[in-house]
Amino acid sequence: MKVLHAVAGGLLPSLCAACGRSCRPGAVACTRCTRRLAEAEPLAGNGPQGLDRTWSSAPHEGVARDLVAALKFRRLLPVAGTMAERIRWLAPASLLSGAIVPVPTATLRSMGRGFDPAAEIAAALAARTEMPLAGCLRRSGGGRQVGRRRADRLGHPPQVHVRGEVPRSVLLVDDVLTTGATLSACARALRSGGAVRVVAITFTRRL
Ligand SMILES: [Zn+2]
Repeated sequence: MKVLHAVAGGLLPSLCAACGRSCRPGAVACTRCTRRLAEAEPLAGNGPQGLDRTWSSAPHEGVARDLVAALKFRRLLPVAGTMAERIRWLAPASLLSGAIVPVPTATLRSMGRGFDPAAEIAAALAARTEMPLAGCLRRSGGGRQVGRRRADRLGHPPQVHVRGEVPRSVLLVDDVLTTGATLSACARALRSGGAVRVVAITFTRRL
């Protein structure tokens, strides 16, 4: 009963999405994890193939990796807002233009999970930048993520196709950049649909 009262009164402390320790009510991450994330260095680059530029807010390790897992596997949706905030503050202004297009999740996976992490980050970023959001990409084929990564490595990129109008200038958004095969497949589909500029931002990048 005591716990129920605390919840009703909003007195229960929040738990840090990264380390699980209690933190300030309403906060997504504790002070320690927030500081550690602030110390992570963004990564910029050209390519993969088809992309004009890519930028990731942090390496896929430590607190950044824990936040990706919290969003993806524990569905802690406020984490998407924290990721979008970091991207908005640190990403080069030149990248934050055009229309935001979330990297599509394989249909079966997003159905099984009930939501799509890339779409959540993209929506949170659109809300903070007032950039338009265009969900114009779809992915065919289900398959588990482990299988997909293996397929990427083996040189079988995911099947991505456009649906609806394709913006001329696109900012692709995803949670993690791994091999880049998915981003390349997205860029190919977007350019075939008329996009002339395709850049990508991810929250983390695997090194
Ligand atoms: Zn923490």
